[in-house]
Amino acid sequence: MENNFYVPACKFCGQVVATEKNFETEEYAVEYASRKCGCSKAKRYASIENAKDKATNILAGLNARIEVVNFVNGMIDGVGWGWLGKASAKISPEYTVHITEAANGRIKLKVDKKTSSSTEL
Ligand SMILES: [Zn+2]
Repeated sequence: MENNFYVPACKFCGQVVATEKNFETEEYAVEYASRKCGCSKAKRYASIENAKDKATNILAGLNARIEVVNFVNGMIDGVGWGWLGKASAKISPEYTVHITEAANGRIKLKVDKKTSSSTEL
């Protein structure tokens, strides 16, 4: 039995990343290479994708809907690639998230929990 495997080439610079791994889809091959390549765009991409993975876990812990997770990940893309300076969204009656970029280039996610409460009487 013979399988065809795809070559992991960075989607930003086209450089092939050396690996022992075999990729059964082109998408996986390109994704892997684009996170592992040493070019500046690939490094940025890796840090943005890692930030999105971490944010997804944090939001899952807050029981956020998948639509909210996707929206916040879009905010991370915007701040990470520089089309947005910063972004905030109230994701539930209790939680507001803020996405900013630190001076060192790391993406920051801050979750504010509403602590005060008011009741209509
Ligand atoms: Zn590259």
